[in-house]
Amino acid sequence: MYNTLKTLCLIPSISGREERIREKIKEMISPLADECYTDNLGNLIAVKRGNTKDSDSKKKIMLCAHMDEIGFIVTYIEEKGFIRVSTVGGINLVASSCSQVISERGVKGVLVPESGVKAADFSADKFVIDIGAKSRKEAERRVKIGDFFVVNPSLARLCGSRVCGRPIDDRIGCAVMIKLAESLKDKPCAHDIYYAFSVQEEVGCRGAKPAAFGISPDYALVYDVAGTGDTLGAKPMECAVGHGAAIKIKDSSVICHSEVVDRLRSVAEEKGIPHQLEILTYGGTDTSSIQMSGFGCRAGALSIPTRYIHSSVEMADIADAEACVALSEAFIESI
Ligand SMILES: [Zn+2]
Repeated sequence: MYNTLKTLCLIPSISGREERIREKIKEMISPLADECYTDNLGNLIAVKRGNTKDSDSKKKIMLCAHMDEIGFIVTYIEEKGFIRVSTVGGINLVASSCSQVISERGVKGVLVPESGVKAADFSADKFVIDIGAKSRKEAERRVKIGDFFVVNPSLARLCGSRVCGRPIDDRIGCAVMIKLAESLKDKPCAHDIYYAFSVQEEVGCRGAKPAAFGISPDYALVYDVAGTGDTLGAKPMECAVGHGAAIKIKDSSVICHSEVVDRLRSVAEEKGIPHQLEILTYGGTDTSSIQMSGFGCRAGALSIPTRYIHSSVEMADIADAEACVALSEAFIESI
């Protein structure tokens, strides 16, 4: 799991420019599925066909994780060579301040606030990227208006099975799906499994909706990170890093389908898979887009508890991701 996660983390791919990460995932998932295609919006979908001949009992199960990450888009270049940017997705400027960044063309720089701006007054228009250029002319040779930048990708091992870096959101969800596909590859399954790697989640869960419309699933499970209540000063909440796969019950955009929640809880208990319950009072994932697509579907989510989400030091536990794989397999078997 760690190596798969590291491979995925080290490929920068901002929302709307997921080509590079999609190519890498395609290379990894294609041998594990019967077919693999990219839809009009750019979602990558790999299908493992079910083996039952009875079309009434055969279900379509959509599994989904997003490939994109948050970042910045170049809007203007100052005479002195400093680069003005706008944000793509929910950027935490305090957490991103003074980070190294890299553009889609591989240009390196640092994201810094203008001199004298206090953290309380941080906004995107008070930030610039400094690529070390002496003038606008020099900067323009390397950076164009509309170029994308992301915070430098990285992944490091910490104590035990904990890791930190970025973008763990949501390459860890993609890694869970790849490990699950490896595990299911040679096992007979009655149902069709759709592994959907979605685009543009960070800008409003845009990709998953047409992906789900195209698939029209009976069931869906979404894998994404979830905030935790286990750090000093955190608002009390149940979810903690290292306590297992988090079965989402609700966040601010979805109430997960009761059958999916109950099924996940009962198979986790039956098989002794580490799990916990998640009720997030903020945020949302592709789950809501999938649930409301087409005629609707029975959608739920397994979250990987993550500290410091959207910073350069997102922290998660590989054991929680492995629990998501085991629980997904048990869930699929139970249908
Ligand atoms: Zn995410």
